[in-house]
Amino acid sequence: MTGKVALITGAARGIGLATAKLMLGRGWQIAMVDRDEEELLAAAGELDGARPFACDVSVADQVHETLSAVLAAFGRLDAVVNNAGVAEFGPIEKTGFDTWRRVMATNLDGVFLVSQAAIPALKETRGALVNIASISGLRASTLRVAYGTSKAAVIQLTKQQAVELGEYGIRANCVCPGPVRTKLAMAVHSQEIIDAYHDAIPLNRYGSESEIAELIAFLCTEQASYVTGQIIAADGGFESTGVGLP
Ligand code: NAD
Repeated sequence: MTGKVALITGAARGIGLATAKLMLGRGWQIAMVDRDEEELLAAAGELDGARPFACDVSVADQVHETLSAVLAAFGRLDAVVNNAGVAEFGPIEKTGFDTWRRVMATNLDGVFLVSQAAIPALKETRGALVNIASISGLRASTLRVAYGTSKAAVIQLTKQQAVELGEYGIRANCVCPGPVRTKLAMAVHSQEIIDAYHDAIPLNRYGSESEIAELIAFLCTEQASYVTGQIIAADGGFESTGVGLP
């Protein structure tokens, strides 16, 4: 056991669950946060050293109650992984304001709210924030007006956090995953998008949840103690190409 505690949002499945499992295996205790209570309880039930906290990260009251409950349960907080996210794709002219707000509420407001509520505890441990954006926040392509804009905002929010919170020893970094076959991605990736990613990515494949989790886990540790304000893509080289996507 490291004696360290990480809070991971969107931990019921996908990249968040893979990160929880990886960090548990390396001796962390994990507060698993997700708004899908059923899936969360099922996932946490399988894992020793993890506790579930049902919470919608876009609702301020729920976030504050959850942070209090996590601190009451574990007594400290060393890392926060802001991973909860939603994806809705569509053309600009057909993206309704309700869709725009839904995407911003989880992907951007959620990162702001959870990070802000965690700052007092992270000051105590000189802890780490790791925000999950996307290659869609680095590179624009069609259909991602809401999703891509929300993730670009998370990239800037990370830099703001790193600059402002450095004086407390708090590090803030951002991971931009390339495509991973999770429920979120498979709901919005058409066959045309899947084929285009395979062609455009130098490693010619989607990534896996555990490949993203490795980078997230590293950024939470002391081994990354001089790394802050960084935006790091785990994308098979996609960011280095100029190839477009549908
Ligand atoms: P996923 O759908 O498998 O998991 C997302 C989890 O977040 C779910 O358990 C869901 O219930 C939870 N969640 C959603 N909204 C929430 C809210 N408001 N409050 C609390 N929990 C909420 O998706 P994933 O692919 O594992 O995505 C994880 C992160 O990685 C997201 O931020 C996503 O944008 C990002 N990402 C994913 C890909 C990809 O291809 N899968 C690529 C780039 C970035």
